[in-house]
Amino acid sequence: MERDKGIQNFIDKFAKKSFGRSPAEAKEKGVCVTCGAKIEMEDFKDQLSIKEYGISGLCQKCQDDTFGR
Ligand SMILES: [Zn+2]
Repeated sequence: MERDKGIQNFIDKFAKKSFGRSPAEAKEKGVCVTCGAKIEMEDFKDQLSIKEYGISGLCQKCQDDTFGR
């Protein structure tokens, strides 16, 4: 899964530059990487959204804004 790793690195660098925190840091603190809101597991609509948080560190609201779901 080298490709996934590349994407993860890209997201980490991008987020760090744009939002001042990387998804890894956001997840560690339990907050959203972009808006900084506290993450509540029950806020996620489905498993896919939870998985997405695991990748990008986006809360449900920011996922909706980003992916238009
Ligand atoms: Zn958010």
